[in-house]
Amino acid sequence: MDVLYHYVGGARVAGTSGRFGPVYNASTGEEAASVPLASADEAREAVATATRAFAAWANETPVNRARVMFRFKALIERDMDKIAEALSREHGKVVSDAKGSITRGLEVVEFACGIPHLTKGEFSNGVGRGIDMYSMRQPLGVCVGITPFNFPAMVPLWMFPIALACGNCFILKPSEKDPTVPLMLGEMLSEAGLPDGVFNVLNGDKEAVETLISDPGVAAVSFVGSTPIAQSIYQTAAGHGKRVQAMGGAKNHLIVMPDADMEQTVDALMGAAYGSAGERCMAVSVAVAVGDAGDQLMERLKPRVESLKVGPSLDPESEMGPLITGEHLAKVKGYVDLGIEEGADLVVDGRELSIQGYEKGFFMGGCLFDQVTDEMRIWREEIFGPVLSVVRAPDFEEALRLPSAHEYGNGVSIFTRDGDAARDFVDRVQVGMVGVNVPIPVPMAFHGFGGWKRSAFGDMNQHGPDGVRFYTRTKTITTRWPTGIRAGAEFTMPTLG
Ligand code: NAD
Repeated sequence: MDVLYHYVGGARVAGTSGRFGPVYNASTGEEAASVPLASADEAREAVATATRAFAAWANETPVNRARVMFRFKALIERDMDKIAEALSREHGKVVSDAKGSITRGLEVVEFACGIPHLTKGEFSNGVGRGIDMYSMRQPLGVCVGITPFNFPAMVPLWMFPIALACGNCFILKPSEKDPTVPLMLGEMLSEAGLPDGVFNVLNGDKEAVETLISDPGVAAVSFVGSTPIAQSIYQTAAGHGKRVQAMGGAKNHLIVMPDADMEQTVDALMGAAYGSAGERCMAVSVAVAVGDAGDQLMERLKPRVESLKVGPSLDPESEMGPLITGEHLAKVKGYVDLGIEEGADLVVDGRELSIQGYEKGFFMGGCLFDQVTDEMRIWREEIFGPVLSVVRAPDFEEALRLPSAHEYGNGVSIFTRDGDAARDFVDRVQVGMVGVNVPIPVPMAFHGFGGWKRSAFGDMNQHGPDGVRFYTRTKTITTRWPTGIRAGAEFTMPTLG
């Protein structure tokens, strides 16, 4: 069994806390590695290392920082297969899906390659007589990223390429459930020429996180994970004077209007609900069937869910792999039990699935509920597994109300051929990311990713222009070069003009 490490100061560092967590092969259920869980002292040491590296990196020219990102991009492309397989083995998503997620992260590296342009300031000539004014964006210092298990490459890549390109140092505290890929990314950044200590991976749990988000040496915290932790990180880190963005959980709806192309809608739902075993913050977990769309939808959906190819994540034939851990599998199955108790109609039951030769893997088949209502906990709570709930809505207004009334507001989608209905929906729905005939409307790297309501705390999105704003602060300079005329002391508030 492998014993993992931290990556601090450009080197692998063995854990010294004496505490370790298990890392599983999700398909076999075997414990494949153990990951050190950092102590508060180790977390403080990582902050000290990053702090020492900051001045020189912040002084590096934006062009040279961008060149490191260009080389890092080439290395990700070179190692794509290796990264995807490691990701698939630990997380359980199939390799093609792992590659897709790494590509979405790679796009942020590509965005960060444009940093000289992105951090240009503004200039106003002659705002007063002989006075010019300009602004510049400067890095913050040591930034921390705390990331979830479901995207061990993509979510860290939403954060650190922009943070580093802006001139910050970074400490990544990845999920302790799948830490191998984040460690690989750390070594690849060194290979790309990033100076030691600028990027660090500190493995750990609550103890490391609590130390990092309260350490006076940390300037900003980016978090992605579940809502209760997101809220608590937001409050604590902000209470310690840090800039914080904290993304939380989700319950994404897909509205099926009666005029939707049913075949296309079912294809979209299959991928969005069961891809990555539903362990995506943008997974569709509720389909809202409007009017007579309900029966047509169920008739087509049921056989598709029943014939879903579930198998080991490295098998190219598999459409869906296992869940992340046995504990999470038990939680998801518990929600299916709950749905039955609450009176929903379980049309496809994947709870008992077992894969020959992989009996200890964390597998379940796809589950499909019909007749779910907004009073049920299976509608209100995030299940984060391959469970799709179908809610029947009498009309458009009710379909609009459901995602808008939900406490989460991450993603939503409408499938229709009616442009007017789609436009009205886009305008009025109370959700941060909206798709029209697109099931998973994840914004590209040059736009921002961010939900509303209890799906995101803080006012800035991940990546895109907000990423640059988040990882820099503005300095505004007013200049005058007097030519010898001295006006004497002025005691009134200065006004220009
Ligand atoms: P999680 O909240 O359990 O863990 C996220 C991170 O927080 C991990 O690094 C973990 O070690 C740390 N953590 C866990 N408990 C902690 C505690 N008590 N104190 C301090 N730190 C703690 O989330 P997860 O199970 O790893 O990921 C799944 C969740 O992430 C889902 O809710 C999903 O919707 C959400 N997610 C959201 C987005 C988004 O952009 N909104 C993206 C991906 C995942």
